[in-house]
Amino acid sequence: MREFEIIARFLMPVGERRRRPGVILGMGDDCALIRVPEGQELAVSIDTMVEGNHFPVAYPPDRVAWRALAAATSDLAAMGAEPLAFTLALTLPHGDPAWLRPFADGLSRAAGAFDIALIGGDTTRGPLTLSVQVHGTLPAGSALRRSGARPGDSICVTGTLGDAGEALHWLESANPVPAARQVLDRYHYPIPRIAAGLWLRGRATAAIDLSDGLLADLGHILDASRVGAVLELTQVPLSEALRELRGEQGVEGALVAGDDYELCFTWPGDLKVPEDIAGVTVTRIGWIEKTPGLRLYRNGALEAFKPGGYDHFGADPEGAE
Ligand code: ADP
Ligand code: MG
Repeated sequence: MREFEIIARFLMPVGERRRRPGVILGMGDDCALIRVPEGQELAVSIDTMVEGNHFPVAYPPDRVAWRALAAATSDLAAMGAEPLAFTLALTLPHGDPAWLRPFADGLSRAAGAFDIALIGGDTTRGPLTLSVQVHGTLPAGSALRRSGARPGDSICVTGTLGDAGEALHWLESANPVPAARQVLDRYHYPIPRIAAGLWLRGRATAAIDLSDGLLADLGHILDASRVGAVLELTQVPLSEALRELRGEQGVEGALVAGDDYELCFTWPGDLKVPEDIAGVTVTRIGWIEKTPGLRLYRNGALEAFKPGGYDHFGADPEGAE
């Protein structure tokens, strides 16, 4: 299938199905046009997923599409931006309609779920790779940043952690137990916490989305804010499914495993932490201190743990990315 045919048959319909005010011109010209309303800012982020690195080889195409758009949109959620539009650079080994049809369906469903419009992109031949660039809007000066955490703030997370990491152990399994199917679902169809991010804007002091693991991502907040923290490991929220599979050991995975796409945020120490935000549970897992570094406690006692998290270049000295 030729490039223009792939675009016209499979991608144009995804773009046309979802129009957003603010998008002046979508796919079909040399550029898309976006209008940013007076007093608003554009939040922009790009994420790349490579077959065999960010998703398994021969992974179902609708899941490829969902995960790529969810991961990219999660960065908008972390800043408190409202999703507006995305572009897609798609590199395909071959233009196979049997692959493209479910891919376009998955992309369309994800775009609908996250209320974000496909406005353009690029299509090339090569090893299966997707780059998704997302654009969102927010009132000028209101973005949730990594740098705002202050000593005394509570450290909170949305939802539960570790399911997506646990799912990696089950991806090859022919007959996963029911609890494993639940954690696999979290891996296949992550949900960016968009509404929670919008609510936290102007309230949380700092935020980040959990894509590389709690220790690594919280570490970014601590570095950017020039503070330290204490984490109480027994407070890290785990799903029923993960508890069933791993018991309390599930925490170990939750600390270093990525792909959960929950939000981690800091909250003014003198305010009560909300129990849930936009229907998602919130858990206080620690607090910010002036002394740099991350200290892990278990039932109040200091615990030694080697911080990690998934680092693409760390995992492969050649730097495959
Ligand atoms: P140009 O040569 O001007 O860069 P292209 O021929 O690559 O334009 O693309 C034609 C139109 O189709 C453009 O509007 C472009 O944004 C859109 N497009 C191409 N590939 C994709 C894709 N993978 N997803 C969405 N839109 C795409
Ligand atoms: Mg052009």
